[in-house]
Amino acid sequence: MNEEIEKIRQQALSELKQAQDAESIQELSVRYLGRKGRVTRFLRNISELPKEERPAAGKRANEVKTELESAFQDALAHLAEKQQEDEQAIDVSLPGRQPPLGTLHPITRTTRMIARIFERMGFGIAEGPEVESDYYNFEALNIPKNHPARDMQDTFYVSENIVLRTHTSPIQVRYMETHQPPVRIIAPGKVYRCDSDLTHTPMFNQVEGLLVDKNVSFGDLKGILTAFVHQVFDPQTSLRFRPSFFPFTEPSAEVDIRCVMCRGDGCRVCSDTGWLEVMGCGMVHPAVFENVGYDTDRYSGFAFGMGVERIAMLKYGINDIRMFFENDIRFLRQF
Ligand SMILES: [Zn+2]
Repeated sequence: MNEEIEKIRQQALSELKQAQDAESIQELSVRYLGRKGRVTRFLRNISELPKEERPAAGKRANEVKTELESAFQDALAHLAEKQQEDEQAIDVSLPGRQPPLGTLHPITRTTRMIARIFERMGFGIAEGPEVESDYYNFEALNIPKNHPARDMQDTFYVSENIVLRTHTSPIQVRYMETHQPPVRIIAPGKVYRCDSDLTHTPMFNQVEGLLVDKNVSFGDLKGILTAFVHQVFDPQTSLRFRPSFFPFTEPSAEVDIRCVMCRGDGCRVCSDTGWLEVMGCGMVHPAVFENVGYDTDRYSGFAFGMGVERIAMLKYGINDIRMFFENDIRFLRQF
């Protein structure tokens, strides 16, 4: 009689080996272990066996039942695992995916454009640290401690004498300390001020310029900046120089251009004035030259500075400076 349960076991296991999917495994499970299954029937019929064979046959049949139960379960689990693996497998017949290509950020493009224009006019590029000492950021530029001009700039202080530079002008001082005139440089870089609204961000980019030589006049400054504006915007763009104040230049001026949006008729961008402020400039203050040891009787020079974001906003017609830093791909792709 034990032969019969062994035969049932063998058959169940070999049929299980052939089973390809969950459905046929479940069907096998019903056929062997279900209420009318072969193992179940064998167990039920044990009472018909000779008395002395019953205990051994019952024990063996229960072992086979347990063995088949776990064999079916294992087979189902294995199948599920394999299916998951298949789903994750790479289909080598699919065409490859093109990784999205980046583009230059509009601020990078604008900085490079500005740099190229000045390079063509003979300016070199100088760089300096973003974490700067109070001396280079303020004092050397004729902004002593307690000078009211310090209120013009909301400064991030790292410690009492260390700041995040509020402009790239400290680069000019560092450059003049180590170079004798003639000097002809621009200084591009990030600057920091506690400020945040539609047209200000706590970090922005500046390009400043410095030219020092014998007999440099305000006329030279106007010529260089006019040539610059005509190349950035349009050769017809008119400029105006409006008197202003900076501690490190004297005389100082703001440079306005005819509104690029309304051509001077007045619009929201130019607050109906027809003019847009694009940069500050002036003749280098003798006190700055004295700080770096230049002979003010022999040399004169001019400096100017502009916000790169401001130039990019006017050039591309962007009305919110924060767009530059939100990294929205749809925005960045337009350039
Ligand atoms: Zn306008």
